[in-house]
Amino acid sequence: MRKNIVAGNWKMNTTVPEGVELAKAVVAKSVEVPAEVGLIVAVPFTHLTSVASVLSSRVELSAENCADKAKGAYTGEVSVDMIKSCGAQWTILGHSERRQYYGETDEKLVEKTKLALAAGLGVILCVGENLEQREAGKHFDVCESQIKNVLFNFSAEDMKNIVVAYEPVWAIGTGKTATAEQAEEIHAFIRKVLADKFGTQVADNTTILYGGSCKPSNAKELFAQKDIDGGLIGGAALNADDFIQIALSF
Ligand code: PEP
Repeated sequence: MRKNIVAGNWKMNTTVPEGVELAKAVVAKSVEVPAEVGLIVAVPFTHLTSVASVLSSRVELSAENCADKAKGAYTGEVSVDMIKSCGAQWTILGHSERRQYYGETDEKLVEKTKLALAAGLGVILCVGENLEQREAGKHFDVCESQIKNVLFNFSAEDMKNIVVAYEPVWAIGTGKTATAEQAEEIHAFIRKVLADKFGTQVADNTTILYGGSCKPSNAKELFAQKDIDGGLIGGAALNADDFIQIALSF
């Protein structure tokens, strides 16, 4: 059966020394979390090596993005091999902030996902609608097309190394959380889209995380939903106590 996971997305926060302290605090508190809950911290590229050196095997390491090219003359980009060589096991891809501010397209995400999987990195693929799309009742269509455009290029075998994160853009960093019912209906829908393509077994084994102002006070209700398998946590992941409290909410 699928794994429950709580992943912290640090975004562009903390200096390297601050990040190392935060990672140490997460590791120290991670002993409280039952072994069946996976813990991941996604950190800036600059932090990967230093954070890797203080993580235990209990807490896995993720990048927040990767290049859509393997190597070469792409100034400023960071390849999957570079990320892997820092000790990371995962990368987040398709975060709405990258789609919104850096022109991340589904086409680029296909390339990035191919490279990440080939390098042996697991992928946390983010999907989700913005406020305008939600208000127009297009949230199911948006999520379906993001899933189809990216994940339908991959195999059932590939899906073993892919986690989906449903993150309604209107709930990210806004303090506005989707209600447990709103989140569950999209999670169940995403699982059905996956089942139609890959079969029920693959869909049932795929971890689908909720992201968007998830915090200790609302995690329990969200994680109690049948199709919500944990969270991708932004702001609350910058505090080790809150992050671990969320991981204790299953
Ligand atoms: C995120 O950016 O992935 C996120 C969910 O952020 P926040 O928890 O701050 O809304």
